[in-house]
Formats: sequence, C-alpha cells, structure tokens
Amino acid sequence: MACHKKFVLEKNALHFTELGIDTRLEAQLAHQGITSPTEIQSQAVPTAIAGHDVFAQSKTGSGKTLAFLLPAIHRVMKQRALSKRDPRVLIIAPTRELATQVFSQCRLLVAGTSISVVKVLGGENFNDQVKALRKDPQIVIGSPGRIADHLEQRSLQLSGLELLVFDEADRMLDLGFAPQLNLINEQANHRLRQTLLFSATLDHAQVEVTSRNLLRSPKKIILSDAHQQHGDIKQTLYFADHLDHKDALLKHFVTQDNVGQCIIFTATRNDTVRISEQLNTLGIKAVALAGDLAQNKRLDIMDTFSRGLFKVLVTTDVASRGLDLLSVTHVINFDLPKQAEEYVHRIGRTGRAGFKGTAISLVGPKDWNSFVAIKNYLNDALSFESISGLEAKFKGFRPPKPKAKAPVEKKPAQAKAAKKPVRRKPTKPKKAIPAPFDVDGHAPLRRKPKPTEE
Ligand code: AMP
Repeated sequence: MACHKKFVLEKNALHFTELGIDTRLEAQLAHQGITSPTEIQSQAVPTAIAGHDVFAQSKTGSGKTLAFLLPAIHRVMKQRALSKRDPRVLIIAPTRELATQVFSQCRLLVAGTSISVVKVLGGENFNDQVKALRKDPQIVIGSPGRIADHLEQRSLQLSGLELLVFDEADRMLDLGFAPQLNLINEQANHRLRQTLLFSATLDHAQVEVTSRNLLRSPKKIILSDAHQQHGDIKQTLYFADHLDHKDALLKHFVTQDNVGQCIIFTATRNDTVRISEQLNTLGIKAVALAGDLAQNKRLDIMDTFSRGLFKVLVTTDVASRGLDLLSVTHVINFDLPKQAEEYVHRIGRTGRAGFKGTAISLVGPKDWNSFVAIKNYLNDALSFESISGLEAKFKGFRPPKPKAKAPVEKKPAQAKAAKKPVRRKPTKPKKAIPAPFDVDGHAPLRRKPKPTEE
C-alpha cells in the first residue's frame, strides 16, 4: 500500500472515530495506514451519515472516494435494508477505469464483512453481470451506459435503492449520459433515497440543471474553487512550433532524472501508439492506452502501470479521471484538451494525497484555442517557460483587434453639397449556409450519436 503519511492535518482535525463511522471501517482504514480524515471526508462523511443529500466539490486527489464510500458502507452495516433483493447502494462513475478503482477501494473496506459488492461495466460480459446481479449484492458500482442497459433488461431493479452516488457527474454529462442518469434517477425515485454528487469541477451549467433533478435540498460542500491553481502541482507551459518540436520537447522532459512515473496525454489514439513506440526505442518503458482497446487489455495496462512495471503511460482522456497512483510525478499534455475542466482532471493525476507533482503542457498553434479557454478558466494563472536550445518561434496568436470605426470628420457644408449621395439598393439578407465540415474536418452528424463509455 502506498504511504499516506504526507497528509498533514490541521490542528483540531477530526479523527475517524469522531465522524461516526462503524469501528470495523475504522479498523480497515488503519490497516491501510489511513488514520485521520481529509477535509472533504471530515465534512462529507457526517453530513451523509445524517441522511442529507450532498453536492461536493473538492480538488483532485483530496480523498473524495472515501468521502462517499465510508457513509455508504456504514449505512449498509448499520441500517436495516429497504429491500432484501435490490441493491442498497449504487455508485456511478464515468469511466471503466474510475469505476474499477472505486470498486477496488470498496472491496478493501468490506473485506471480512458479509457485504457483497458487484462491478457492472461496459465492455465486460453482460450475462456474467446478470448472474452476479441475481445474487442480490448490496452495493453495485458501474458505468452509466451499462447500468442503464441492465435497467432496461430488468436484470437490475432500483426500487429499494437507498443511496445513489454520482462520482465525476460533470464528466458523465459531457459524455452525453444525461438520458442514462435520468433513467437511473427515475427508477430509484422514492422518498427515502439519498443522493451524493462529487467532483473537482462541478461549476458546470448542465450539472446545475441536472443536480436539481437528482438531489433534494442538498448540503453544498465546496472546498475548492475549480478555477484555482492546485497548490501541490507545479504547472508550466512550453510553446512548440510543430509535431517534431513537440517530440523533441517530450524527449527532453521524459529523460529528466526527477521523473518517476509519468502520464502523457495526447489528442489522438494514433499518437498514443506513435509516442509510446518512440519512447521504447529510447529505452524508456512506455505503453499506450486508448479507449478502443478491449476492456481486459485496458485493465491489464492500468494494473501493470499501477504496479510500477513501466514508467510512462501514453493515453487519451480515458485516463484523465480517477487514476490514483501516488508514484506519478509528472503529467505531460502533449496536446491540450479541448475542455478546460479536462485539463484540471488530467493534471490531477499527479500531486495527489499531499504529494507534489509537475504538470507540463506543450502549446502549438493547434492548441492555442484550448490554451485560451484553460487560461480563462484558471483566471490567467499559467506561465510559459522555455528550454535552452528548444525555444519556439511560435508565441501564440494575438486576439483579433476590434474593428475601429473611422473617425467621422465634419465636412464643410459646401463640400458636402458637391458630393452626390450614392443610393444603394437594399440587399436581401443572405441565408446562412451550414458549413459542410466542422473545425476538425468532420462532416456534421445527421443524427445524435449514442454516447459510448470511455
Ligand atoms: P481520491 O481523491 O479519493 O482519489 O484519493 C486520493 C488518494 O488519497 C488515494 O491514494 C487515497 O488512498 C488517499 N487518501 C484518501 N483519504 C486519505 C486519508 N484520510 N489519509 C491518507 N490518505 C488518504
């Protein structure tokens, strides 16, 4: 187990016993070297145990998973079930990797009890999941698409559900899972249901609307400003002129002595493969992880990376949330993400649990719009540096100048009279023609695509 001693607790910080959780849970935590709650745990655990709905925002790596798992398991241990057949707790997470991680943490906590936990993810065998669900587990952890499939097939019923948890709710909405979340909400829609919603970035217009449907008079616990810099992550940006320049910068950073494990984010799946091959030829053990890989392959890669069997993971946004490895010292954005929130989550793969981390972002002409969005989101707090010998000519684009109106000069009355006024025919307003391709060069979709789990 990773070392947890780096969490420095403020004076008067509570201890787990004071949060009101079952002593068996406390013993399990102590067994993992976790003795004092983080701030989000100190606030969210008693609030959830008291039965309130919770809307909680706290920075990446601050202990959110235990903040919802502890009250969830406590409830299963201490309170009588509403139904013997239906699951009592359902935890939904946007990606299979994140759901798997929550599942592993949950299993550790219920070890030695009779509580059963089942994981229900897309990309895994549906019938095996049906069989597991027939055994009436008390806790189900899954991804939204597959949970919705089971609801539609009636292999999962939620009328006895007591606690519904949405981890990284904003990401699920970004991925287009609003209909699935609504279905889950409707099927578990009874008076006694409690709901908890967690993320590092909840200030999202759609979250505001959706959470009004999902939560009843929630207690808001906002411990971090999503727009503020993460104190444990040093963020630096470097200009790059083109792909070869990015490759050279990447090589420079990855070969530095202070790099432990490193995650590189790229915009495309092809680049995950290309870059990992390039690093391997340099003698740096790197593996590519993208959403198109089979589920068991994805889990296998995550597992070997978490055991430190290779140094660099090259991935797309598949691994931007949830990956909790304290040995990740560096995150490198080879390309910037399109959405500013994703930047916050990507860099949050380092600097976790009180450890320090470094985030490096390469900004080329194609990244400029994303950079501007991220800069605005983080209130300008980003700085560029350069590496001697690898400086870029590109220094960003200037914002377009607002069109200046020509100053109106008053002409003498005579001169005015000399000039004949030109009469223009009124022109019909032109109909807007839809652009045949979007900025990425794709033809517009005719139908709304079905969301796929990452
Ligand atoms: P999370 O934000 O839930 O992904 O947690 C980030 C990391 O902090 C994980 O490695 C947890 O095991 C660790 N962690 C969570 N709570 C505590 C705690 N109270 N004391 C020490 N480490 C913790």
